[in-house]
Amino acid sequence: MIFLQRNRLATLKLTANPVIFTLAASIFLALAYNATFWNRFFEVTGGVSYKNIPFYVATFLIMVLVFNAFFTAIAFRPLIKPVLTLIFCTTAFAAYFMHRYGVRIDAAMMQNVIETNAREVADLLNWRMAMFFLTLGVVPSIIVWRTKLTFPDVRRNLLIKCSVIGLSLIAAIGLTVAFYKHFAPTFRQHRDLQFMLTPINYLWATNSYLKRKLGRPKVVAPLGTDAVKGALWHEKTRKTVTVIVLGETARAMNFSLNGYARNTNPELSKQAGLVNFTNVQSCGTATAESVPCMFSSLGRNNYSDSKAKSQQGLMDVLSHAGFDVLWRNNNSGCKGVCDRVEHEDMSKPVAGNALCTDEECYDEHLLDGLPERIRSSKKDMVIVLHQKGSHGPTYWKRYPEKFRQFGPECATSDLQECSSEAIAATYDNTILYTDHFVSQTINMLRRMEKNEGIDASLIYISDHGESLGENGMYLHGAPYRFSPIEQRHVPFMVWMSDSFRSQFAIDATCLAARSSQMLSHDNLFHSVLGMLNIKTSVRNPALDLFHACT
Ligand SMILES: [Zn+2]
Repeated sequence: MIFLQRNRLATLKLTANPVIFTLAASIFLALAYNATFWNRFFEVTGGVSYKNIPFYVATFLIMVLVFNAFFTAIAFRPLIKPVLTLIFCTTAFAAYFMHRYGVRIDAAMMQNVIETNAREVADLLNWRMAMFFLTLGVVPSIIVWRTKLTFPDVRRNLLIKCSVIGLSLIAAIGLTVAFYKHFAPTFRQHRDLQFMLTPINYLWATNSYLKRKLGRPKVVAPLGTDAVKGALWHEKTRKTVTVIVLGETARAMNFSLNGYARNTNPELSKQAGLVNFTNVQSCGTATAESVPCMFSSLGRNNYSDSKAKSQQGLMDVLSHAGFDVLWRNNNSGCKGVCDRVEHEDMSKPVAGNALCTDEECYDEHLLDGLPERIRSSKKDMVIVLHQKGSHGPTYWKRYPEKFRQFGPECATSDLQECSSEAIAATYDNTILYTDHFVSQTINMLRRMEKNEGIDASLIYISDHGESLGENGMYLHGAPYRFSPIEQRHVPFMVWMSDSFRSQFAIDATCLAARSSQMLSHDNLFHSVLGMLNIKTSVRNPALDLFHACT
């Protein structure tokens, strides 16, 4: 039995035998960290009623028995306490994100977590998270370390262990069989439940992520090495510059260009030569998934992280065709897409630069020195500007003071502290700033066209959308199959100068007529090649937006 000798945590001394100790840890894990799972489980099974009680008790017991079998297997003196501490601390974070942000944990989410950077992590910290960590991570860990385990002798210990593991598993299997007709439809119809059951969700997700990552081939296969500039380039003397603004976390429905009631596009709506596509779906719901997918030739149905990283992508094909390719980054990185072309990390704050705070730089910093860089290039250019955009939950940090136009502002990373009006208003300020940034980029290209005789175009597309509290969900990264439309519907627009359009024989009316057509990230790779009249066997005309309009 567990004996509490004193009642203050600092001087707490407990004694327990390992069988009781692992069972207590299993019960605690099933109850304290799984509120999100239980809420959803009750919801999809019709709610708490006498009829459902046996099923719920069976589910709880199976969870406890499976956890118990695992902890018993590792219940050796040097191992059990460090493992439990690690699990309690990590699961506290998982439980916090599931509970506060409606996050679901799958392999793509784990990739997102593992490949994030320190500043994005710092953005998430707040006192409520610290309290969660203290209560569910630190306190249980202290109790674990303050408990003196009384192990029997080796032979007896092994015998007890084998019996406990055997009995736990037999009981778990027996209960699963007995309630199979309840379990099968529940977990089959509501597959999202598997992403809520912690710590199984993140252990399983980390395992799949690592399997994918380690199985990734080291050699990158060439792609589109046959790419050349097509007939429309013959005898062309003016330099051509195309900028792709890669947005971050911008959802289409908050753009007034897409019918949003608030005027979040005061500048872009006045830009002549802009075509806005209203019906565009992202490839993934997180940067680590969407960015490699949209710059690959694979398309969403064929995409996998390992496939995308084992072959070259759009940036490489443009290099093969003879362009000077540049990637400027104000994000957590290009996720492998820009590895073989020139790339500049502009996300670090620059002292004395008015476009930077102590922590980060606003997206306009991506334009610093860009005209000079374009001028110095002897070749035609394609430039990607990878924004920080609307990255949350600290939306208020993404825009300069001047763009704090909608309110009230939500200035905390704990979004549930704010009203839905405040969250939307703060998010809308980020869209307003993106509107300004993209418009400024177009203005820069216009000036260079006028003064220096370049032909210019710009594409703006976001990597994925964002949930702002709809159905209790916040942020992004939901498993694609269960993701809400807010996380998948992205803005996409194309601007071309008159000289660019006539040079590449693009019919703007035809393009505008396609503006409400169903499109997706699958179109990006092929449309950039089509717009720039690049001949290569890897361009699929069916996915090239410009094909029918040239
Ligand atoms: Zn993103």
